[in-house]
Amino acid sequence: MSHLYDKITVLKGIGPAKAKLFAALRIDTIYDLLSHFPRDYEDRTKLVSIAELQADTPACFRAMVTQAPRTSHIRKGMDITKAQVSDHTARLNLTFFNQSFAAANLRYGEEYIFYGKTSGDFIGYSMVNPVFEPAERAGSLTSRILPVYPLTAGLTNAAVGKAVQQALALCGSDLPRLIPPALEEQYGLMDGAEAYRQIHCPQDFDTLARARRRLVFEEFFIFSAGLSLMRAKRGNRTVPPYEDTELTPFLKALPFCLTGAQERAIGDICRDLKKGSPMNRLVQGDVGSGKTMVAAAAAYLAVKNGRQAALMAPTEILAEQHFASLSPLLEPLDVRCGLLTGSMSPSAKKKIRQTIAQGETDFVIGTHALLSESTEFQDLSLVVTDEQHRFGVAQRGALSEKGQDPHLLVMSATPIPRTLTLILYGDLDVSILDELPPGRQAIDTFLVGESYRSRLNAFIRKQAAEGHQCFIVCPAVEESETLSVKSAEAWAQTLQTTVFPDLRVALVHGQMKPKDKEEAMSRFIRGQADILVATTVIEVGVDVPNATLMVIEDADRFGLSQLHQLRGRVGRGSAKSYCVLVSGNRNEETRARLKALCKTTDGFQIADEDLKLRGPGDIFGSRQHGLPAFRAANLTMDLSTLQEAQAAAKSWIDSGAPAGEALMDRVRLLFASGGGVLN
Ligand code: ADP
Ligand code: MG
Repeated sequence: MSHLYDKITVLKGIGPAKAKLFAALRIDTIYDLLSHFPRDYEDRTKLVSIAELQADTPACFRAMVTQAPRTSHIRKGMDITKAQVSDHTARLNLTFFNQSFAAANLRYGEEYIFYGKTSGDFIGYSMVNPVFEPAERAGSLTSRILPVYPLTAGLTNAAVGKAVQQALALCGSDLPRLIPPALEEQYGLMDGAEAYRQIHCPQDFDTLARARRRLVFEEFFIFSAGLSLMRAKRGNRTVPPYEDTELTPFLKALPFCLTGAQERAIGDICRDLKKGSPMNRLVQGDVGSGKTMVAAAAAYLAVKNGRQAALMAPTEILAEQHFASLSPLLEPLDVRCGLLTGSMSPSAKKKIRQTIAQGETDFVIGTHALLSESTEFQDLSLVVTDEQHRFGVAQRGALSEKGQDPHLLVMSATPIPRTLTLILYGDLDVSILDELPPGRQAIDTFLVGESYRSRLNAFIRKQAAEGHQCFIVCPAVEESETLSVKSAEAWAQTLQTTVFPDLRVALVHGQMKPKDKEEAMSRFIRGQADILVATTVIEVGVDVPNATLMVIEDADRFGLSQLHQLRGRVGRGSAKSYCVLVSGNRNEETRARLKALCKTTDGFQIADEDLKLRGPGDIFGSRQHGLPAFRAANLTMDLSTLQEAQAAAKSWIDSGAPAGEALMDRVRLLFASGGGVLN
């Protein structure tokens, strides 16, 4: 039996206390430990001579002890040990602080390999606290490529390394074969067990690169196989096809004509719904492309066919807004709409849940609360998730378990890079909304500094005088001593009392009571506030067509994609709109980044730039992004390996090969790391 998923306490030297430290690194099992990959490597393979040592640059050298170590006690708790070593080029003084015990191992006349760096300071030119090993027994601290592990307080690199070595000895040779041998050969992959050994103790950098490729491939393969299996499972199911896909009454009720792209997407959806197997569709479209109406059309059809539909939004504000805009449209068409969010009173929640269970509510709009177990549907047939990237693959699966294989429709604001699209939506068919509703004008974007403040204020006033509204986004909620950034609370106060006493300023941020939040938000939506000061809670979805100006304070604090999303909150009506990025940051790179945003409105381009500059986490801001926690793979760099692994997984699953338990174990682990459950 494999020990792979045993607790690490089976290892020597790891008791409950140490295990706790490891747990802080999310390491509980042997497998976790083996896949705790080094974050970097130190090249200790090259030997230099003492004469070649460069100040402040760590290096290895071989030398003989020419003056035995001598320790002096400086004061209580402080001793210094000095020794001298030489090779054929020079002599070097070594200084050890509080390491007399270790230093005493240096024997006069013997040769050692040392690793350390020299510096000239108050004790003169010397090397401080080098590590060393006897020359003929070198190979664990020196004379090798040393892995550098992510650590936590109380756990040293050596301790992690030792534990990993034990784990490799215990399990290294009986790791499950997750990639079929034929594929290993086809893609030229290193053997799996060898790859784990090499990633932790590489023999050279070429081998290390091949080991890494294998592990990245394996991780993506597991992920892709998981997606394909989920998809295959759903694809094999049959559901009653929708008989009635007549949309005319719905289209007549709309205050506008659909764009060509919306028509195409809705056409794709109609075909899916008539097919007799569950739909798996992603609708991708940049901010403002009109995804909500596509969702509404699908919900309309579900209800017209006598079934229930649900729309899940990532925030309460957004759920409330969808409800506010969709129920007046759909109710006259005999679609009974309901709202269910986490912050509703228990009795209100209970009531709406009852009507959902009894089939008296046809279309439920809500937040994650929809996912909670006490929500039962009578006949859920369509699940729409808006701004899907905030949920993740696993949660998508969980919601679909609510009905009997419901149709899934996923709406996402486009701008995510291709790698992430493949990861997040690899299991879906895609419809793209590549067309904005007519009459939209480009949003002029400016980058300004503090010196522009009075002109900016005048501009805000001018917009208000014309009857338009303005968003002002701040990076923080409260005043903080550590961050010198504008806080929404304080800034709203200042604006209302001293800058715009004659205008109506509203405030909304994530830490407000839901009721106050809703109240402020709806004041702004109804046009009863001129200025809405907010944090990024308004980032997704919020739709106020009368708002024409988006001011973002301390804009350098945000990722480009986030800024693009925020900018998408204006320019949603027919009036000319503007986005002003305020930043006092003089850093060249930062300014270049922000200027790029002023020049382009292409969400894809911005997202790619962002991924390059700041990594995947930032694409979605700091919130949960639904990405599985990949351990080996780097989403910025490994696009081509991802594509190969996906092709491999697909061909393998399509060939009908059974997914072994070992693979399924890993699939579950990986999906669970994205913060959800996989059924
Ligand atoms: P997003 O794709 O960002 O979710 P929304 O669905 O919120 O976009 O739509 C943005 C705005 O465009 C809304 O005010 C919506 O009513 C409007 N809209 C949607 N489709 C059309 C259309 N075909 N013609 C005109 N306006 C539209
Ligand atoms: Mg939207």
